Amino acid sequence: MNQQGRPSRARFVTQQTPQTFTSNRALEISEALIFETGREDFTGVDLDAPEAFTPRLGGLERQSALGLPGLSEPEAMRHYVRLSQKNYSIDAGPYPLGSCTMKHNPRLNEKMARLPGFSDIHPLQPISTVQGALELMQELADWLLALTNMQAVALSPKAGAHGEMCGMMTIKAAIAAKGEAVTRKVVLAPESAHGTNPATAAALGFSVRAVPAGPDGLVHPEAVAAALGPDVAAIMLTNPNTCGLFERDIVEIARLVHEAGAYFYCDGANFNAIVGKVRPGDLGVDAMHINLHKTFSTPHGGGGPGAGPVVLSQRLAAFAPVPFLKRDGEALGLVEHTKGTRSFGRMTAFHGQMGMFVRSLAYILSHGADGLAKASEDAVLAANYLRVGLSDLMSSPFGDKLCMHEALFDDTWLKDTGLTTLDFAKAMIDEGYHPMTIYFPLVVHGAMLIEPTESESRVSLELFLATMRDLAMRALRGDKERFLGAPYFAPRKRLDETGAARKPVLRWRPPAPVEE
Ligand SMILES: *Cc1c(COP(=O)(O)O)cnc(C)c1O
Repeated sequence: MNQQGRPSRARFVTQQTPQTFTSNRALEISEALIFETGREDFTGVDLDAPEAFTPRLGGLERQSALGLPGLSEPEAMRHYVRLSQKNYSIDAGPYPLGSCTMKHNPRLNEKMARLPGFSDIHPLQPISTVQGALELMQELADWLLALTNMQAVALSPKAGAHGEMCGMMTIKAAIAAKGEAVTRKVVLAPESAHGTNPATAAALGFSVRAVPAGPDGLVHPEAVAAALGPDVAAIMLTNPNTCGLFERDIVEIARLVHEAGAYFYCDGANFNAIVGKVRPGDLGVDAMHINLHKTFSTPHGGGGPGAGPVVLSQRLAAFAPVPFLKRDGEALGLVEHTKGTRSFGRMTAFHGQMGMFVRSLAYILSHGADGLAKASEDAVLAANYLRVGLSDLMSSPFGDKLCMHEALFDDTWLKDTGLTTLDFAKAMIDEGYHPMTIYFPLVVHGAMLIEPTESESRVSLELFLATMRDLAMRALRGDKERFLGAPYFAPRKRLDETGAARKPVLRWRPPAPVEE
């Protein structure tokens, strides 16, 4: 045991690993902060000192040094390349982070996004010079509408949470237009909802009323009916839900919500399970965001920006944000101003994440309608393969019911081991896997939410299963050492994540000089 009472790595690692002089371990390079490596009085470029001049800033000029680290180009290059190598990514290995749909981004998408006609244009260019880009946006919009059977789409939101905000602002505008802004102040959300749902509602001034799920993990119409009233503006429901289950009674729930004069917002983050199989518009959904960075494979998780287009039903279409595309004869134009429309306003400076639009459309066109449906089927198949492959060792909260694109386990099976979900996840890091989502959804104790996506091959799924089974058997056998000190092989071990979120230290200060 070391000072913190954790088993030491040396006891787990059979062969003693020698400490290196550099702290590097072969290709695992110990990298200092750029401020520690760089020198303030140094610069990577060779410029002559400026001639004496009189500043024209009227006394507002900076009096002290900027405090930026100076590095040469190779030093800066190495620093960032080394940092990038510490980043686990879907390109490096399986990333079964439930609810996040970490799927492969085909390189064809990247090639398309880099075409100069898409990558070198500017949002303020004359509209006649970007007709191709607008056509691409229109074609993507047409696909999203066809796949969801909805009436309008707002392309500009830049993430799922941003899309939720957009959809709920549309609903708020529709309610205001009916003169009910003062009376309808409540949003319903199931207890299993992603945190962004209640956060979005609260940020828009709604209060949130929780709807309990049944023992089968599903939201039941009776529970929705009991929570509905003339004060309810909308329900925010995820389908498939965050337990990886398809909401069986969703059509009836939509009917009840509409009957009560409220709107149905669907969190579409889990769309990857049902693309090409189910159209949310057929279920009675009024608004739904689509995470292009999940379902349509554009990079995320450190790899790129998100994009969260929102599809809208006929009842909400008129309130969509500007800008939106409008065909004018042969040409496409953008409606940029709300004047003369019922639009609630604007979400972003320009039109959204153009690069993500290109990648998504490349993904959609290369799959085709049949390929998209097949991808959903494969995502569901892969999740069930893992679910069944682990079900004799690990416990599932909702029995052996078929799941959609992600398999959910709880920590009942760890009860007598003295180990927690966190210990188990940390041991996965030693095995070279990004852990699954843990402790979410909150309604399941010690939740482990595994989403392999359709990207993983049978071989990859088998290896993952074998690894998980080996770890699970060690846990059940009482090999606590394997877990309590994990991760043994990562440069950082168990971080104070709460402290980092609540009291972040965002500024580096030089350490006080040490007297020799
Ligand atoms: C990912 C996710 C969101 C939020 O999407 P972001 O793009 O991360 O903002 C919302 N709800 C669910 C269920 C999600 O999985």
